[in-house]
Amino acid sequence: MNATEERNGAPGYVAASAARRLLVLLLDGVAYERMRGLHDAGYFRRFHPPARLISVFPTLTDPAYDLLFGSGPTPGYEAGYFDRPTNRLTRALPTYLRGGNEAWVRHVDYRLSFFIDAVMYLFPRWVYRGELRRARQVLDDCLGAGRDVAVLYLLSTDGLAHMLEPAEIDAQLVQLDDWIGRATTDYGGELEIIMLSDHGLGRVPAGCTQLERFDLRGVLCGAGLRVGRRLRRSGDVALPLFGLLDVARLHTHDADTRRRAVAATRRCAEIELVAERDGECLRVYAQDAVATIDCRNDMGAARYRYEPECGDPLRLADACRTLGRAGALDADGFATADAWVAASADADFPAGPPRLWEGVFCLSREQPDIVISLGERWYVGSGLLSRFVRMRGTHGGLHKRATETFVMATGLNIGSPLDLRQLAGLLRREFGWPPALPGC
Ligand SMILES: [Zn+2]
Repeated sequence: MNATEERNGAPGYVAASAARRLLVLLLDGVAYERMRGLHDAGYFRRFHPPARLISVFPTLTDPAYDLLFGSGPTPGYEAGYFDRPTNRLTRALPTYLRGGNEAWVRHVDYRLSFFIDAVMYLFPRWVYRGELRRARQVLDDCLGAGRDVAVLYLLSTDGLAHMLEPAEIDAQLVQLDDWIGRATTDYGGELEIIMLSDHGLGRVPAGCTQLERFDLRGVLCGAGLRVGRRLRRSGDVALPLFGLLDVARLHTHDADTRRRAVAATRRCAEIELVAERDGECLRVYAQDAVATIDCRNDMGAARYRYEPECGDPLRLADACRTLGRAGALDADGFATADAWVAASADADFPAGPPRLWEGVFCLSREQPDIVISLGERWYVGSGLLSRFVRMRGTHGGLHKRATETFVMATGLNIGSPLDLRQLAGLLRREFGWPPALPGC
């Protein structure tokens, strides 16, 4: 590829160097506000300012990076998931340890050993230091072997984000800036660097010291539903619980069971949103507010409609007015995902209609019947894990807190806001990377 020719023709590209080689740094769980604050404070100045990147829903690593690499759909939202063809919950830990939910990892040159993942939340700084060391060795190996592209994934930034206070996270990220400075010095001007993260992170609200576990299973059982590993008869619900997240999903035996589960959960104070898959559409609930989301394909281009029935559960009234004024709504009220991103990046649930739709129908084969996004302060997940850690933040949900992450590059000035699909297209045009475009 004649990279220079292609880049010069693209709008927005600032030809900063004669960079011949590309380093892609994939972080985990670094919110936009962290990187924005650090850049404003004078760090990461080899990069253009960070652009606001809208993650997928669920705001989880595997669906996000599977979308970026075009390696999806992801089997489950996370390694512990409900497998529809075999009608059972997977064994989360063995699936996790063999990377069974991480097809995208085949495209990266460095990823932490799965066995060290287990201690990452207990010793996040120690694991992070080790990752920086190892990542540098892998970078040297890749470039030393004459490779043009090196892709390094740092998982432990997610451990820092879950476990530390913002000031402590920033202090750790400054070490990454030093790491980048050394790599840039050692490789002169020949290294173009793109750095991004997969999702943001909701923080514990002021006045609370740690997140609390929400007993979703107890709520469902209290409503007379049976929570188990398989769905055999009416009233049966499968509830995958593994990571400590502010998203939950339910699989229900039939439509009546699904309606009962929605009724049991939609008014819980700990729950911000409930969405159910109802035939060809999605229904979204926030307390008493209800809306439907529809999707249709016009010659291969998906368009999404948000129709409030009662109240405005996704709080999109302003965004809908913006779409109308911009002429982005068709005669039936549908708009493209790109238009939703532009109009609702500042909303409480950025680009909620297309992201919820893709999260339920496209990005993962799990296709839950119900998804639940929790309010700040709450998480669901493995009871065993939650005994060991005191978390100060988490992600998975639809809200802006976990949605807003960042992307920045040394040569390319990337405009805000954009979503992961738009970013994948932009990087393909500019660098011929990633190797495949997202499907779905
Ligand atoms: Zn995480």
